[in-house]
Formats: sequence, structure tokens, C-alpha cells
Amino acid sequence: MPTTTADSERGFCRDCLTLQKRETGRCYHCGSPRATRHPELFQLHLAHIDCDAFYASVEKRDHPELKDKPLIIGGGKRGVVSTACYIARIRGVRSAMPMFKALEACPDAVVLKPDMEKYVRVGREIRSMMQALTPLVEPISIDEAFLDLSGTERLHGEPPALVLARFALAVEREIGVSVSAGLSYCKFLAKVASDFRKPRGFSVIGEAEAVEFLKDQPVSLIWGVGRVFAATLEQDGIKTIGQIQRMELNDLLRRYSSMGNRLYHLARGVDERTVHPDHAAKNVSAETTFNSDLSTRDQLAPILRALSEKVSARLKKAEIAGRTVVLKLKTRDFKIKTRNRQLAAPTRLADRIFETAMPLLEKELDGTRFRLLGVGVHDLTTPEKADPPDLIDTKATRRAKAEEAIDILREKFGKKAVETGYTFGQSSRFEPQQPSDREDDF
Ligand SMILES: [Mg+2]
Repeated sequence: MPTTTADSERGFCRDCLTLQKRETGRCYHCGSPRATRHPELFQLHLAHIDCDAFYASVEKRDHPELKDKPLIIGGGKRGVVSTACYIARIRGVRSAMPMFKALEACPDAVVLKPDMEKYVRVGREIRSMMQALTPLVEPISIDEAFLDLSGTERLHGEPPALVLARFALAVEREIGVSVSAGLSYCKFLAKVASDFRKPRGFSVIGEAEAVEFLKDQPVSLIWGVGRVFAATLEQDGIKTIGQIQRMELNDLLRRYSSMGNRLYHLARGVDERTVHPDHAAKNVSAETTFNSDLSTRDQLAPILRALSEKVSARLKKAEIAGRTVVLKLKTRDFKIKTRNRQLAAPTRLADRIFETAMPLLEKELDGTRFRLLGVGVHDLTTPEKADPPDLIDTKATRRAKAEEAIDILREKFGKKAVETGYTFGQSSRFEPQQPSDREDDF
């Protein structure tokens, strides 16, 4: 969209989406006070969308009688707050707070246990609405995603800023929860912007103001600077992003190695990360439905082994690893059971996935007949820390080495070149009856 002086003075109303030519307190069309105005409004394309108090909002939608009450979602095993609604937040309740403390701060709060299945379902509905705007959607959690809207103006007939505001209204109307949006030219500042004015926020950070905006912000705002690293920086006398802006790249590299590079660039509002829909998988899994129901170890173990190898191959191919192994079973009467176990270190080895899932499976073998078996790996991460040598189980280390050797052979000579004892001659018997490889399904 060409920049003109007229553009720089333009904004729009977030309730009726009417363009606002002049700065006025309220929309001249509908009287709403929710106007957005920014010199770069119609040039920016990178968005971050975050649902407001997601679990609590979904429950308020489903229980209108709770609308004006303080609501806490949490409890369960760990006894902490998952999400607090904004009324409870005003009273001092925070995420991850122990439940007894939350109830001290807000004794009349209504507490509901999380219904993850429902939240996942609603999260997916919202995600598919995002995917209708652009194929470049990168989910970062159940209720949060980056969207790259560049090049979509012709498709939508309006610039990304309006597409985004229209989307926020549609989610409220069709799903019944609210979102906050951040619009910028890079991921870092889009995420910062969406956090700015919640709930129902819509904030814009332009390229021209980035350095000035960041100057007085705390270093903890920088992506990747957690509590521990912020403390290190503070020990070195660095508290604000402005201080980093005045430092040389070499100095930052010398002090903080690769993190120094990130600090240097992000402090200046330079973030080259692109929106990657492919890297966004929250888990990698494989499952298969049987031709006839199965119930014994001898029947199920080889299938679990084959599925573990499939998952492992995909993890290796995508250069990711995961820390939690999840087993999925569907009984003859269509009841779904999932069991999971967290590992001490992330893995991408078939052997480790199988050895972790097998005891979970064995516990379920009580004669129940199953129609589906699946295995997956969650809590994905980069592979650097995956599969450290196991000092206690040296056999596992040896098996890991063997698996690496097999991978190399398979790479060279094709998948069928090496079959392990468990899968030998089995593969064709357990071909899925329907396409069932799913990246994000359990
Ligand atoms: Mg959220």
C-alpha cells in the first residue's frame, strides 16, 4: 500500500471498522472510543494474536452465570492457578499461584478444574479462523499464534491491520471469547505489542519508533531473557534495553556469546525470524487403527515398536526432540485413553520412545480389546540436549549408538535396508486403514 500523508493521519474504529480521517475522541460513525491510529498502521503485516485469559473466558462463555464473578481455573494435581479471569486478577490472583494463596486474595472466587479437551477444541476453532486469513500461521500455544499477513491485501481487499481487527470481532462473535492483537514488522515486537493492552487490546509498534520505544524497557522484555539471565545482566549493571543499544556487538558477543548476538539485534528492533507454520507442531505422533480388535502384548508390542520408529524418523527429519512420551489407545467401544511419561532429557530415539511407552501399554493390558494404538512425543524442543549418554543404563546408550548406525544405513540404502527384530516382516500387516499420521492430535 503506497504511503501518503493522508495515510499517516488515518486510523479506524475497532468496533465498526470505519476509517477515521481525523483524530477524534470517539468514532464519528458509531461513537465507540476504541479507535486505532498509527502512522505505519497500513504498512505493517506481522501479527501476534493471544486470547485473553483463555481457559477462564471459555468457561464464562459456557457458564453465563459466572460472567461477573471472579473465576479461577486450576486445582487439579499441582494445586496451582492455571488461568484467572480479569476480575480475579484485579484482586491479585496470578497464574501459577498456589491455590490456597489465590483463595486468600480472593475468597469468593469460583474455582473450576481445567477441561483441557474443551480448550483444545476451542483453540483449534480459532486457529482455523486464523488459517483462513493466511497460510502463514505459527501457533506457539493453545491460544496464541504469529500470523504473517504480507501479500494478503489483494485476497482480503484491505490491509492487514483491518483484517486483524475484523478477525478479533469475528472471534468474539463466533467463538465467544476475546483476543488481543499486536501488529508490527517483526515477531519480537508483534508479541510485545499484543501484551500491551489486554484484554481486547490492539497495539501497533512501527519500525520508525522501535528503538525509541525499546530504550526504556527492561531487558526481560527481550525474547529469551528469562529470570536467570536477567539476573546475570543486572549483575553486570544492565537493566534496560537502552543500555544494550549503546553497547558494541563484539563486547556483547564476548560477554554472552550467541545470546549477545540476540541482545544486540533485538535491542535495536532487528528480528529476522520468519513465521514458520511447519515448525509449529506441538507434538509428533503416529497411530494406527487395526483391522480387528487386539488385546495381547504379543499383538500390540510390534505395532508400538513400528509406530515409535515412525515418530522417531519424523523427529529426526524435523530436527526436533521431545520430552514427554504419550501413549494413546482407543477401546472397542471408542473410549480414548492417553497415558504419558516425562523423560529426564528430551529424546528422538525410537528405542527410548518404545521403552518408555511399553510399560504404559503393559499396564492397560487386562483383556480390554483395543481398536487403535498410537504413540507420540510432546514438549518439543531443539535436539542439542536430546539423548545424553545414560550413565545408569549403559545398555540404553549402546542401543542409542546402534540406532544411529541403523539410521545412517537407512539413509544410504533406504528404509527397508534394516529391520529390527520387532518390526521384521510386520510392516505390511499394520498399514493404517486410513490416513492417521497426525501432528497435533493427542
Ligand atoms: Mg493467552
